[in-house]
Amino acid sequence: ALADAWREVAGDPGAALGLPPTAPAHDDSLQRRHEVLAEVQEHYYGVPPRIERGWRELLIDVEGRVYLDMVNNVASVGHAHPHVVAAGSRQMHLLNTNSRFHYRAIADYADRIAATLPDGFDTVFFVNSGSEATDLAIRLAMAATGRPDIVAMREAYHGWTYASDAVSTSIADNPFALETRPEWVHTVDAANSYRGRHRGADAVRYAPEAVAVIDGLAASGRRPAGMIAETYFGNAGGVALPDGYLREVYAAVRRHGGLAIADEVQVGYGRLGEWFWGFQQQDAVPDIVAVAKSIGGGHPLGAVITRREIGDRYRTQGYFFSSTGGSPVSSAIGMAVLDVIEQEGLQENARVVGGHLQRRLEELGERHDLVGAVHGSGLYLGLEFVRDRETLEPATTETAAICNRLLERGVIMQPTGDFQNVLKIKPPLVITRASVDVFVDALDRVLSTGF
Ligand code: PLP
Repeated sequence: ALADAWREVAGDPGAALGLPPTAPAHDDSLQRRHEVLAEVQEHYYGVPPRIERGWRELLIDVEGRVYLDMVNNVASVGHAHPHVVAAGSRQMHLLNTNSRFHYRAIADYADRIAATLPDGFDTVFFVNSGSEATDLAIRLAMAATGRPDIVAMREAYHGWTYASDAVSTSIADNPFALETRPEWVHTVDAANSYRGRHRGADAVRYAPEAVAVIDGLAASGRRPAGMIAETYFGNAGGVALPDGYLREVYAAVRRHGGLAIADEVQVGYGRLGEWFWGFQQQDAVPDIVAVAKSIGGGHPLGAVITRREIGDRYRTQGYFFSSTGGSPVSSAIGMAVLDVIEQEGLQENARVVGGHLQRRLEELGERHDLVGAVHGSGLYLGLEFVRDRETLEPATTETAAICNRLLERGVIMQPTGDFQNVLKIKPPLVITRASVDVFVDALDRVLSTGF
């Protein structure tokens, strides 16, 4: 009834997009998810196609139009940061080479990365992307344990390369249908306390259930090599894992001799207001950490950080080599990004400006029924749109329409999640309170005036 009343007020956004007038019943089958993706991809305008320049949290297209970039967790310290530009150019003048050589930039950078992690993380492998980082993390676990089986959480996204894709069951960006997944992949329920099987306080049940799956695997003779999980539930819009989830699940994996892999590709390095707040907030310490995106500030860079004995067992089976992973220029840029995060207090900015944004979004939710929930923390937030707060029927076509309207108002935002009904809000960490207000005001107007 609420959804119908809302449709009366706002008109039917689906009709404006040329979709059938009646909203589909809430159906979370895999087939429905594929249909949703196809629908949205057809109707969502996408980001402006001809971006030419970037500066801080702004993007400028070839015609000189300026956009507020609310989705770019790759340009972590903002577009074209002068310190990063200078560091990259300087290193380019000095030396850039195949990373088979030993050079100062990589050694300094590896030390700096290791220092940002808890004690014991003393070995860093450099790659070029998040997919390579999670892929390598999985291989390290397999090599160190001598076993193939990996446990992963359903509806997560870890990348597009073979192993990272195999453990990604979010259907967005993932070509593996569930039935063709390799036999070494074993999944546990998506521990999503908002939209999953167990909601709210009931979400504590996810951890014992995952532990039962892990114990069951071991009992059947397939002791897992490791478990990979994001520390925040990224594709769902930054939903936090239930308290203590990772601690319990990591303990179960380790009881069977496996390793815990934390995918911090989205949230690592400051977005949550701490270096690695994802696993630290869970009071858990993994064995292998995969990072990328923010660390390169837009330059292709990823890293896998682990303990020496795990890295060494991998290296005895050959040795690791990536031609450009951690190249001198990548390392210099990575170092400059860390400088900027530290010197400009960007972790604090994530806490303060992110906190302001979160409060404003929550306030929006009090006035607009379409807002189902505000997820996440710091500058890693998700706004989930639903047609009905009881059934959580996803407001998919509405979300596409909202993003289109925002783009017309100069704000870049994308629908995300398996139902494409979530705005994943992850602007450059330099974003100001004033820019955040521009975004929320634009969103408020779009929600108030219909779309
Ligand atoms: N892991 C997570 C949690 C991600 O969100 C992504 C990318 O979105 C990846 C891994 C893969 O990173 P990349 O796109 O750099 O290969």
